[in-house]
Amino acid sequence: TPLNRIRNFSIVAHIDHGKSTLADRLIQSTNTVSDRDMKEQLLDAMDIERERGITIKANTVRIEYKANDGEDYVLNLIDTPGHVDFAYEVSRSMRAVEGSLLVVDASQGVEAQTLANVYTAIEADHEIVPVLNKVDLPAAEPERVAEQIEDVIGIDASDACLISAKTGIGIPDVLEAIVNRLPPPHGGDPDAPLKAMLVDSWYDPYLGVVVLVRIMDGTLKKGDQIKMMQTGARYGVDRLGVFRPAMENVPALGPGEIGFLTASIKQVRDTKVGDTITHEKKGATEPLPGFKPSQPVVFCGLFPVDSAEFEDLRDAIEKLALNDASFSYEMETSAALGFGFRCGFLGLLHLEVIRDRIEREYNIELITTAPSVIYHIFMKDGSKLDLHNPADMPDPSTIDHIEEPRIKATILVPDDYLGDVLKLCQDRRGIQLDLTYAGSRAMVVYDLPLNEVVFDFYDRLKSVTKGYASFDYQMEGYREDSLVKMSILVNDEPVDALSTMVHRDRAEMRGRAMCEKLKDLIPRHMFKIPIQAAIGGKVIARETLSALRKDVTAKCYGGDATRKKKLLEKQKAGKKKMRQFGKVDIPQEAFISALKMD
Ligand code: GDP
Ligand code: MG
Repeated sequence: TPLNRIRNFSIVAHIDHGKSTLADRLIQSTNTVSDRDMKEQLLDAMDIERERGITIKANTVRIEYKANDGEDYVLNLIDTPGHVDFAYEVSRSMRAVEGSLLVVDASQGVEAQTLANVYTAIEADHEIVPVLNKVDLPAAEPERVAEQIEDVIGIDASDACLISAKTGIGIPDVLEAIVNRLPPPHGGDPDAPLKAMLVDSWYDPYLGVVVLVRIMDGTLKKGDQIKMMQTGARYGVDRLGVFRPAMENVPALGPGEIGFLTASIKQVRDTKVGDTITHEKKGATEPLPGFKPSQPVVFCGLFPVDSAEFEDLRDAIEKLALNDASFSYEMETSAALGFGFRCGFLGLLHLEVIRDRIEREYNIELITTAPSVIYHIFMKDGSKLDLHNPADMPDPSTIDHIEEPRIKATILVPDDYLGDVLKLCQDRRGIQLDLTYAGSRAMVVYDLPLNEVVFDFYDRLKSVTKGYASFDYQMEGYREDSLVKMSILVNDEPVDALSTMVHRDRAEMRGRAMCEKLKDLIPRHMFKIPIQAAIGGKVIARETLSALRKDVTAKCYGGDATRKKKLLEKQKAGKKKMRQFGKVDIPQEAFISALKMD
């Protein structure tokens, strides 16, 4: 296909503003898929197992469209992950296309992820077409939202497309806008040495690793011997094709084109997003600019509740890691929790997704330790240490100073809740950088320590704003602060899984809160249990759980035998979810709840 007949684009939107529905509508209205095969949300990444039993990650699609000018165009839509945790991957894949549709829900307006995603598109030099969706809703205010896009984002929204992805209103305008307002791929020489950008990759149980590529220069053919320029790995291309959205083979891909290849690649970690693929012989000498691998920033320990399930957990983690290059893990032993894994994630959502999948898909109940960030520890002897786990903290007397990672957070919130949001950020050691208004919404920008955000910031933000706030962040680098390791001792035994790094000024408060919570969460035993928070050898907070000497059935007055039996069964089931620490049983919820800060 000549370059001037190709349009490569992505759709950027806040969650639920209609990206998937619009993608479906574009596919349907161009007859890319027959009506019979059309299913709701064809492109949704989670619904990957549709296409007649063949698993595809249909996150990209080639659409053929006959435009009003009478010409046939090829439109390549690539779907980018919608969440901040994958910011680096989003920014890389954005470089594979030249334009974006900016979808904004006309009944909601601009949200935090709208901003984050559109800024990434702007940074990638995209031409942007604003699309106001859900105009069928009575609450839609397209004019107000168009104005907001101009005020807040600073792009012209006077000829935004007004659509309803649900009913199909305005879809033909979107297709014409893609052809007329987005640019074709820039340049690209089919005879130059091959430079293909690795846009995305995933593991398919039938095909092995599938690699999505955008050809910048040169031509890629089936059977070619290729080389990954970052890793140096070499492969032979087994299969080459495009998504329509089912896989369809093609003999070659030229400049400007987007397609997939398979090459007997064993694991996704061998394919780095952003890497340059070239030919083994007569290949390019310079890779595409700007490659950097994505790095985990949040770490936590994952331990099986039932220690007999350790091997199952290992198996689950290895399988998940095959398909997720950005997730790291290593074995960890904890005095309290036994064998488990220390895992690294791109962010909190990433952590939650992996944890949920292990629990749901592999049926393993987990204890998750407090999420931690990477601290830079500067030792008195001049050496430097990256601390991933508070349990590994060196003796404080040998430390010169500690730096922690900070983020720049952008929060959009209706005026009414602004006060609560400011208080929350302030409580989390935030520094306000900016506060502006757009209509009845405020946009506030804060500099926050990442460690104050990793545990329950999203949850708190949602609850203080009744779900109306949206949030996004980017990493901002490291800064020195007064940080200490706080240990928790139950019955005089340190529970390393509950150790956390905290700011010195907040240690007492946090320690007291944790001891109080644990006192409520740990069931009484036959003996008195001291619960203490300590920094180094110094106890900073203490609670005592008094002794108890009766079983739960005592309340039943011996009358109702079935009720009594039920209670005993419940008590037994509850036991299974506990871990023993010395002589004390601590229920699983205690680990999570104790770390939440109210
Ligand atoms: P995404 O998260 O951006 O992919 O959003 P979805 O495409 O999944 O849409 C989120 C919700 O909004 C779904 O329940 C859709 O049915 C609904 N939706 C999408 N477009 C429209 C529209 O034009 N009008 C109305 N009323 N609802 C829509
Ligand atoms: Mg979606």
